Amino acid sequence: MHDCLFCKIAAGDIPVTRLYEDEQVLAFPDIHPQAPVHILIIPKLHLQSLDETTAENSPLLGHLLTTAAEIARQQSLTHGYRTVINTGPDGGQTVGHLHVHLLGGRAMHWPPG
Ligand code: AMP
Ligand code: ZN
Repeated sequence: MHDCLFCKIAAGDIPVTRLYEDEQVLAFPDIHPQAPVHILIIPKLHLQSLDETTAENSPLLGHLLTTAAEIARQQSLTHGYRTVINTGPDGGQTVGHLHVHLLGGRAMHWPPG
């Protein structure tokens, strides 16, 4: 068993509020929310980052995004929201397990920092 925070969360070894879950993905609140709604959607399969994915992972990546959209609807983010995937050091990735951030409940800024 490798030492991965989000694999431990997916396995239930670290408790989180499981907002949505199916065989492939899990959604839970970010521990340091950057917006009124800040939810992480992760694949249960360990993938280090988007940079590790190939066409083989396309269905899973699509499922991550449609899950984010479904959760946004459940959270009544009718004014919109932002989905973010940070990749690698320059992308600001701090946890080495692919995840989609769903941010909403306030107006976002562009360009990002
Ligand atoms: P990133 O910087 O894109 O890799 O995002 C990692 C995110 O994981 C950050 O927004 C952290 O706040 C969040 N995070 C770290 N540890 C936990 C945890 N135990 N439960 C929930 N979110 C976490
Ligand atoms: Zn992992």
